[in-house]
Amino acid sequence: MTEADLPVPEPRASALTLRGVSKTYGGTHAVAGIDLDVPSGMYYGLLGPNGAGKTTTLSMISGLLRPDRGEIRVAGVDLGSRPREAKRRMGVLPDRLRTFDRLTGRQLLHYTGMLRGMKAKTVAERTDDLAAALGFEDALGRIVSDYSAGMTKKIMLAGAMLHSPQLLVLDEPFEAVDPASSAKVLEILDGYVANGGTVLLSSHGMDLIEQVCTRVAVLVAGQVLEEGLVADVKGDQTLEQRFVELSGGLGEVEGLEWLHTFSD
Ligand code: ATP
Repeated sequence: MTEADLPVPEPRASALTLRGVSKTYGGTHAVAGIDLDVPSGMYYGLLGPNGAGKTTTLSMISGLLRPDRGEIRVAGVDLGSRPREAKRRMGVLPDRLRTFDRLTGRQLLHYTGMLRGMKAKTVAERTDDLAAALGFEDALGRIVSDYSAGMTKKIMLAGAMLHSPQLLVLDEPFEAVDPASSAKVLEILDGYVANGGTVLLSSHGMDLIEQVCTRVAVLVAGQVLEEGLVADVKGDQTLEQRFVELSGGLGEVEGLEWLHTFSD
């Protein structure tokens, strides 16, 4: 069989598309007209230095922040004109962990499921499954404000997955999560992706991004500086080296000599 006889692979459906999306805060162009195509059934990494616009971008995708301009489609559904349908297709782990933290873990997941229009019985079953998988069964009866940072992240991750969305938008999902729990979360996400789910994640952990992501976009000063398969973006460097290069290099640290003159 020659190459010409091989079946042409179907192009992957897009889990998420952004066209000309912009957000300005006062005089700051946090996101300056970006385009993104996130194919379904993969991990997709959104990288960028501090202040590059990652959280702003993810907040607009999640429907938490309205873009000044541009179009966002979730699995083909326009977020601007059909927000309920678009939001039903995604689960979100926001960066700043603001939640209804006077509830117990079980109550929080119950109300999250109710807001998603789920049946109470299904929510209860899935709550138990997620708590067992993520290892917070013992915390379900406790008030969320008393959780540690890592536990809060886990319960919010569970909340994002509860309604089995097509797309998971995860802002720094592994920050404050211990290595054993991170491995567990990755195992769950691997199964999700293998079955067609899509994970859009932002992380400063370059090793992790390099390990799991098929594609990445590198955002610098609100613009997509580079996008593509991880192997193509990093070339013959590590992803971390390439990231530092795209972020403007390391430069020299100057003017901190006073730090070496210790006070009494
Ligand atoms: P980090 O890696 O530090 O979390 P980030 O890439 O997520 O950074 P954003 O939080 O999206 O960056 O911020 C992008 C720019 O927008 C920054 O200059 C930030 O100061 C500004 N910005 C973000 N939120 C606001 C806000 N609510 N009001 C004013 N400026 C904001």
